[in-house]
Amino acid sequence: MGFGCEIWGPGAFLDATIGKNTICDNKFEDVHNLFMRRTLCVGRSTSIAAMRHALNRTPVFAVWIPRILNFWNRLLRRGGNNFLAQSLHSQLQEPGSWGNQVLHLIKEVPGGYTLPIDTHGRPTTIEQATIKAIVESLVERESEKDRVLVQNLIIRANEAHTRGSLVRACPDDARLGFTRFKWQQWLMGPRPDHKAPAQHKHTFAANAHSFFHVRTLSNFMCANSWLNCSTGRTSHDGTAVPRSARICTLCPRFQRMTQDPEDEMHIFVCPLYEPLKGSYPRVFSSRAYRQFYIAHESKLSEVDDLFRTFLTQGGPEFWSQLAEFLIACRNARLTFQDDFRTNRGDLDDFSDTDDEAV
Ligand SMILES: [Zn+2]
Repeated sequence: MGFGCEIWGPGAFLDATIGKNTICDNKFEDVHNLFMRRTLCVGRSTSIAAMRHALNRTPVFAVWIPRILNFWNRLLRRGGNNFLAQSLHSQLQEPGSWGNQVLHLIKEVPGGYTLPIDTHGRPTTIEQATIKAIVESLVERESEKDRVLVQNLIIRANEAHTRGSLVRACPDDARLGFTRFKWQQWLMGPRPDHKAPAQHKHTFAANAHSFFHVRTLSNFMCANSWLNCSTGRTSHDGTAVPRSARICTLCPRFQRMTQDPEDEMHIFVCPLYEPLKGSYPRVFSSRAYRQFYIAHESKLSEVDDLFRTFLTQGGPEFWSQLAEFLIACRNARLTFQDDFRTNRGDLDDFSDTDDEAV
């Protein structure tokens, strides 16, 4: 997709970003998002931030801008007498030309960077540190909005929190950014980074190979599951269901069980799935699971951290057994629950909505 972006990239960047204050609302990013959704086999409402993290991706312009600016440097390295370098010099004052667009691009970056022109109006080399800083400031601006949303949610959750999970303490009306908050608190593991093998081998994206495992783990680990927390947002008559009312309808069939929200954490403690656990020793005989289970039963405040530690411990055997367990749970639930609604399956849509509201 980025073939030749050194040449057409500056124009595309300006067309896509002027007046928008974001580098992610454009057709290139839509195609990139579709690629990530297809790779992970996840539904349309999956958080883009979670997908990027799972695949260690950045917005496309964060990759293209260094290529554009390094191309500028390559032209200058040819020397002042070279035709291409002279052509670049003459373009600087000409609106719409490549060189002028690159200057315009640098002006658009938040933070204000000095233009690569000397006192005689000649183009100068752009330092690698500057290129890195330009990209970082653009990516930083993208994540700032989410960070503020999550921070507000954490404050609201802390106000209501007495014991147990902070995610579950979050009030029903604190909706915007909740999926991201939950994902950060419960599901976010290390990024798959092949340059850091120790970290890389622990991620599900580096270990899941069969289609069924990839689809199951991606949807679950990106907080886009088939559980009521995600699929029960509206009732049959179309009214919105508050988060705390999206409960597990199967628990009351078991003695002494009270109603519990059906979310990613519940599936590991719901009595319905208890008989399945013996088949997945790598998941349920682990120390991390026992620690999480005790914290959950005693409603300790550390339960969120222990749940994340348990769920992101990683390793090939862990991920394959976790995927098998989740598939078995879904089948068991289908058998028990008549009104089970299937997961959204349609992926054939290029348009993206940053669906963070829950
Ligand atoms: Zn249950």
